[in-house]
Amino acid sequence: MRNLDQSVEAYQKAKELMPGGVNSPVRAFKSVGMDPIFMEKGKGSKLYDIDGNEYIDYVLSYGPLILGHADENVVESLKKVTELGTSFGTPTHLENDLAELVIDRVPSIEMVRMVNSGTEATMSALRVARGYTGRDKILKFEGNYHGHGDSLLIKAGSGVATLGLPDSPGVPASIAQNTITVPYNDLESVRYVFEQYGDDLAAVIMEPVSGNMGVVPPNEGFLQELRKMTEENGTVLIFDEVMTGFRVGFHSAQGHFGVTPDMTCLGKVIGGGLPVGAYGGKREIMERVAPVGDIYQAGTLSGNPLAMKAGLETISAMDEKAYAEINRKVDRLIEGYTEAAEKHNIPLTVNRAGSMVGFFFTNETVINFETASNSDLDMFTRYYQGMIEEGIYLPPSQFEGLFLSVKHSDEDIENTIQAAEKVFASL
Ligand code: PMP
Repeated sequence: MRNLDQSVEAYQKAKELMPGGVNSPVRAFKSVGMDPIFMEKGKGSKLYDIDGNEYIDYVLSYGPLILGHADENVVESLKKVTELGTSFGTPTHLENDLAELVIDRVPSIEMVRMVNSGTEATMSALRVARGYTGRDKILKFEGNYHGHGDSLLIKAGSGVATLGLPDSPGVPASIAQNTITVPYNDLESVRYVFEQYGDDLAAVIMEPVSGNMGVVPPNEGFLQELRKMTEENGTVLIFDEVMTGFRVGFHSAQGHFGVTPDMTCLGKVIGGGLPVGAYGGKREIMERVAPVGDIYQAGTLSGNPLAMKAGLETISAMDEKAYAEINRKVDRLIEGYTEAAEKHNIPLTVNRAGSMVGFFFTNETVINFETASNSDLDMFTRYYQGMIEEGIYLPPSQFEGLFLSVKHSDEDIENTIQAAEKVFASL
């Protein structure tokens, strides 16, 4: 058994200080039946915990670190920028530079506004969509996560396409009623919602590849049809690319699938590991944002130089070749997992879009939250604990995808496959 004594001790203390001992719930490892591991440092594809154990990391801070931990260029440039001052509350060249790069790469974005998290990006985009259309209702998909804003922390009501219910105490029912939730990949339900509420729908918000119920790609034609219906109804189509942006490919998910929304939310990779989010879209819509327009949204630290620099260094380093290289490693990981699962009779369904990959412990096709929920969660827990023992750090939930970085080596991938095979044999 790995020695995790110091982590156990630190967690006891943390639980007295912070709710669940953590600053974000999934870190508490509640769904994998073990205590969280406290990390000390990361380098490349590896994480090192406070007891001195080494792990190959497939969490990468839940997505941002596409260059791996402590990338030399990111670290060096952050040092330089820090010496010039950490925040001025004024415009800077760095904001122009990152905005230019984002606009250049993401097809839907003609103008952009930087914020500090994915949650802020989606909350702000919804306000703008509502202000722009003069409508209140929004449509979202079951199993898609868009941060913890009131309008988005909503579960489906009973029956298809009923008005939403609060997913957490503290979310007013009056707000939840404006959010309609339907199953992912279900065009019939979307059509029904447009028939019922088309004139009232300000926005459809969605993950173009769903990454918060495990990885669930859009069915053939799903995005295209949503594009068509939103256009016909004067509804703003928002792609939440907080996870997929600069992850699924060089031009993000919208480039990968060739569907251009009206607005896009970004986060994770565009901050290169520092707190950043962004929302952007058509000039006509974004020019409604204050101070040029009348829709208010602001931020003391928005666009701060450290975050801009980390994002710039990260995105600039990701050329088409770098994405192809990550994809090649994902190909091999999937091949190895599939062979190992077949050998040991493990029910395994693999979903993938670009370098986003999810393994589900089920033989059923996974196309939405319901089918994802059919996975064997008990098997996942035993697999998870086994992989930690083997030094493989995975996202601590069946409903999170794996992330690879450019620093994951062929050797890392082979070691991971070997570990999975060993653990599968023990399940
Ligand atoms: N949207 C998506 C698609 C996400 O995956 C997340 C976070 N995992 C968010 C929004 C919220 O981002 P943040 O945690 O930075 O607020």
